[in-house]
Amino acid sequence: MATKISIGMSADDIRPAFFDGVIGNADIVTPLTNSISSGHIPRVVFFTGATGAGKTTLARILARSILCENRPPGSFEPCDNCDSCHRSIAEFVGNHIDYDERGAADIDKDWLDDLKFVVARPWTVVFIDELQDIRHEYVKRMRKIVEQVRGVMIFATTHRDKIEAAFLSRLCSYEYRLRRPKTLEVVDYFKRRFQEWELTYQNEQQLVRVANALRCEMRPCGEFPRKVLAETNGTLTDGYLDHLFGPESPSAGGNSTAEWDPNPTY
Ligand SMILES: [Zn+2]
Repeated sequence: MATKISIGMSADDIRPAFFDGVIGNADIVTPLTNSISSGHIPRVVFFTGATGAGKTTLARILARSILCENRPPGSFEPCDNCDSCHRSIAEFVGNHIDYDERGAADIDKDWLDDLKFVVARPWTVVFIDELQDIRHEYVKRMRKIVEQVRGVMIFATTHRDKIEAAFLSRLCSYEYRLRRPKTLEVVDYFKRRFQEWELTYQNEQQLVRVANALRCEMRPCGEFPRKVLAETNGTLTDGYLDHLFGPESPSAGGNSTAEWDPNPTY
């Protein structure tokens, strides 16, 4: 479901672009970044987990890191400066010659015919999202391609249970199970970013309120500090939060169960 907090910016432009912006899931991000910094780029990566767990965000950051032309040995973050990095995530997704991203439902025969040549090139990254939507007649060929990949293939699915068993068993050993961040992880992330960017908040309850209003979903939470930076004078006020999420109901005050307002008033 689309979150409704972007004002004047496309969701893809404000999506976190560094591993440093990933909230929670340290048990997955740490081994992944360790293997990148030690030069062991994974050939196949399979992200599973609920909506909001950060699968697409992490897939794109991973691709940025792999395709970065200036990443120093021993590091894992994209440099943000080279020809590959120096573009918005939206441009990265649409206009990168070595990166191909598509939903599995959009796979057709022609694309699949090309894919085996594409992933034979060690420098290319292909990301197939919502893998459960792949058409049955393509599954067998896709399994074969997975066995031969020399570039990098990233898969993601919200519905692991809907993937054919034979294909799933092929992917299991590459699986990273992401979970939606916990409220405390989101709040800790906000505190870190706020400090780094010299933003202030009035009380911790405000951060809890934001985390809950955004249902702890990775992408909107990941970009929230940047939004505060862009839209306020540097201080998080209750008025600004009311503007984003609607007035807080009096009964919710003081605890951490403020509900997501599906129709924020801005
Ligand atoms: Zn770079």
